[in-house]
Amino acid sequence: MKKQTVAFSKNSSNLFFHILTKCNLSCRHCYINTEQHGTNTLSIETIKEWLYLFAQFSKKSEQINVIFLGGEPTLHPDLAIAIKEARRLGFKSITIDTNGYLFHNILEKITPDDVDFISFSLDGATEETNDFIRGKGSYQTVIAGIKKAVDLGFSTSMIYTVSSDNLHELALMPNLLKSLLSKGAGIERFFIQVVGIRGSSADKSKTSIDEYEKNKARDEKIETINRQVSKESWLETVPEVAHQVAQLGITVTYPKVFLEDTEKFECAGVVADNYFIFPNGRVYRCPLCEDYPLHSIEIIGSDRVIAPTLKINESDLFELNIPEGCVMNKLIQPGNLEYNSDGTPCYKIACCMLKEEISKS
Ligand code: SF4
Ligand code: SF4
Repeated sequence: MKKQTVAFSKNSSNLFFHILTKCNLSCRHCYINTEQHGTNTLSIETIKEWLYLFAQFSKKSEQINVIFLGGEPTLHPDLAIAIKEARRLGFKSITIDTNGYLFHNILEKITPDDVDFISFSLDGATEETNDFIRGKGSYQTVIAGIKKAVDLGFSTSMIYTVSSDNLHELALMPNLLKSLLSKGAGIERFFIQVVGIRGSSADKSKTSIDEYEKNKARDEKIETINRQVSKESWLETVPEVAHQVAQLGITVTYPKVFLEDTEKFECAGVVADNYFIFPNGRVYRCPLCEDYPLHSIEIIGSDRVIAPTLKINESDLFELNIPEGCVMNKLIQPGNLEYNSDGTPCYKIACCMLKEEISKS
């Protein structure tokens, strides 16, 4: 078994390209914020222009991974054309992140040579939990979508976003993945993510499963939410599950989240090259900033220029050095911090982009 912390790469960058914000689902932890990023669907001409812009912006296209996102990217009628254009421009890898509904017969319009991965989101090992979080029918749909994609020869991966709603089912995932493997729906990569308190997760009207059950029992409206998981629960569950999944031959990636005393804190906004592009032209370097107009660059004008934004923006925050580690974590989701009696933090929170990777060989 090989385990490593995946340091921020100096030689490649990631383009998280939200080509629309529309979605057929309304997941409880959805991070899409239409108040900040609008409801615009980019035309295929604009998508092609923006891909071209970024192919020339900071690194050569062969050093850039492109991830097509939404909303639900397969709702875009021209996603297949966008993918083929990204391939033509020579990007390092191309991924589609989907909720599994695979609209517009996308699998019939592209081939396994056009994309490196199709990544499916599943947020519970059981239909009950997944559908509570992601919506009725989404469990069966995503499983059917994975099976269809694998049958057609696509490489597939799965994303499981851990929150207090579904941490208890993460331990069931190795068995589920094993059973999918035996049914010819084996995934190659498993990504465990941690819920961010932004978008719908920051919406206090959307209760967690525990609160929903208590609410039902007491017939009361619950006003508080905390979907974040404690350090103890995270460390008790996530590394062990990752190990078990890796034993199935699946490469597992999960965020580091909590740093040991000896580990160095680094902000990806300073040392890495990630771009989170939204259809209103905002481009963030940090995903935790997306609920605010803190983007440090934007695509403007009919000439499609990538320009820095005025101060204060996310870049000013990246430079701050605080004992808790990630500044944005402390500002928007301090529920995962703990303090000693003298007021010092018990640990640092790592950059949300810092990952552990574990594979069989
Ligand atoms: S998390 Fe993804 S699938 Fe769920 S509502 Fe948001 S965009 Fe749609
Ligand atoms: S998550 Fe924190 S550490 Fe990472 S880029 Fe954002 S501000 Fe920097």
